[in-house]
Amino acid sequence: MTEHITTVAGVAVDTRHWIGGERVASVETFTDVSPIDGSTLGEISRGTATEAAASVAAARAAFPTWAATSRAERARILHAIADGVEKRIEDLANVETLDNGALLRSHRRGVMPRVAHNFRFFADWLLKLEHEDFDTRGHTNHVSWDPAGPCVLITPWNAPLMLATWKVAPALAAGNTVILKPAEWSPLTASLLADIAAEAGLPAGVLNVVQGYGDEVGNPLVSHPDVRRISFTGSVPTAQHIARAAAANLTPLSLELGGKSPLLVFADADLDLAVDLAVEQYDNAGQVCLAATRILVEETVSDEFTRRFVEKASRLRQGDPRDEGTDLGPTIHPRQLEKIDGFVRRALDDGARAVIGGKPKDGLYYEPTLLTDVAQDSEIVQEEVFGPVLTLQTFGDEDEAVRRANDTRFGLAATLVTGDHERAERVTARLVAGTVWVNCFFVRDLQAPFGGSRHSGVGREGGTWSFDFYCDVKNTVTAPNGWQDHG
Ligand code: NAD
Repeated sequence: MTEHITTVAGVAVDTRHWIGGERVASVETFTDVSPIDGSTLGEISRGTATEAAASVAAARAAFPTWAATSRAERARILHAIADGVEKRIEDLANVETLDNGALLRSHRRGVMPRVAHNFRFFADWLLKLEHEDFDTRGHTNHVSWDPAGPCVLITPWNAPLMLATWKVAPALAAGNTVILKPAEWSPLTASLLADIAAEAGLPAGVLNVVQGYGDEVGNPLVSHPDVRRISFTGSVPTAQHIARAAAANLTPLSLELGGKSPLLVFADADLDLAVDLAVEQYDNAGQVCLAATRILVEETVSDEFTRRFVEKASRLRQGDPRDEGTDLGPTIHPRQLEKIDGFVRRALDDGARAVIGGKPKDGLYYEPTLLTDVAQDSEIVQEEVFGPVLTLQTFGDEDEAVRRANDTRFGLAATLVTGDHERAERVTARLVAGTVWVNCFFVRDLQAPFGGSRHSGVGREGGTWSFDFYCDVKNTVTAPNGWQDHG
C-alpha cells in the first residue's frame, strides 16, 4: 500500500488525479467520508487551477489523434471499457455504496451493469450514426458529426459513476477528449474508471479525471478557453455559475439540473399501482433528480390513497445500504441532512402536517416523510429538497391537476397514473416536462432524449441528441460539376 492508494471494501483506489495517462498528486488533500458510518475512506488530491490547466492541456494534446481514430476503433475501445466495468462490478458496487450510501443491491444489479451498457450503447450508436444525403437543385448535402475537442464533464454525488459515464461514453465515442470532475462527496469510482479505461487501451490524455471542490478546480475548468463543451449535472445555482463562466468563451453547455416533479393520480387509476409508484419515490433516500416528490391525488380517492400509501411506506426498511433487506440508506452528508430537515421544519412551522416521518434518525438517516396541508406557493412545494420528503395535495379536476403540476419553476419529469387512455394523452400534451411516464416510472432508454425544461436544464442528451451536442455538426454541400477530369 502506497501513500496514494486507499483500500475501500478491499478494493485499492488511487486517490490522485489521472492526467495525461499518469497519476498526479496535489499538495493539498480533502477527506472523503462514508455516509454509512462516518468512517474516513481516503485523503483525496485536492485539485486547483494548476491541475485544471494540466488536464485541459493533456486533453488538447491527445485530441487530434483520438479524433482521427476510426469510428470502428473508438467503438472497439469503448466495448473494451464496458468489458472492464463488467469484470469489476463487485468492486465498483462496493466502493460506490461506501462512498455515497446508495443501496449495494441496486449498484450490483442495476447501476453498474448500466454503466457498462452506457459504453456499449454509445459505441454501437456511433457505428450507425448517419443522416441520409439529400439533394438541393442537383447539389448533394452531406451531414457529418465532427469531434469538437476537450470536454469538461462535471457530475454530482447521487449516482456518481452512472451519471459520469452517461457523459463520458458519448463524449469519447464522438471523438472528443474528456476531463471528468466527479463530486467531492463521492470521488472514488471515477478513479477506478480511469484504471479500467487505461487497461482497455484508451490512449493517454483521452480521459482525464480531476478531483476536488467545485470552486477550486471546477471553476477553472469551466472557464478555460480551450474547452469545447461543458456537460454538467447538478444544482441550479451551480449551473448558473457555470453558465456565466462559459459565456466568456461561448462554450456550448448541456445542463441537467434539479426537479420538483409531480405524480398525478386520477380517480380512475389502479390505486395499488399509484401507491407503488409513489412509495418508489423514496428510492436512494429521495436523492434522485427525477423523483416525483409532489403527489397530486384526485380528491375523491385521496383518503383511500393515503391509507394505502401509509400502510406500504411504513413497511420500508431503513438501514445499512449493504444489507440485502434495506430499502432506504442514509443521506449523503451532514450538510444534506441539515438541509432536508430545514425544509421540513419550515414546512411544519408553516402549517404542514406530517402524515408519516418528519424528522432525522440516528446518523445520516432521515425518516421517509409525507407532508400534507401544504400551499401551492409554499417553499416545500416549490423547492427541491433532495431527500426522502414528499408532499401530498389534492385536485378537483383535470384542469386543476395540470395547473398544479406545471406550477413550479422546474420541468424535469412527470408521472401520471390513470386508467383512461384518452385522459393520459390530453394531460401529457399539457405537462411541461422533459420526460413523462404514464402508469410507470424510471423506465429509461439511452436512445430517448433526456433533459429538463425551464430550470431543470438546457439541452437534451441521449442517442443522436448526445452526438449533436458533443460534435461540431457539419453540412457539406457539393455541386454536381466543377470536377477536373484526371482521366
Ligand atoms: P452541485 O451543483 O452542488 O454540485 C455538482 C457538481 O458541480 C460537483 O461536482 C461540484 O463540485 C461541482 N461544482 C460546484 N461548484 C462549481 C463551480 N463553481 N464550477 C464548476 N463546478 C462546480 O450539485 P449536487 O448537490 O452535487 O447534486 C445535487 C443536484 O443535482 C440536485 O439539484 C439534483 O436534482 C441534480 N441532479 C440532476 C440530474 C439530472 O439529470 N437532471 C441528475 C442527478 C442530480
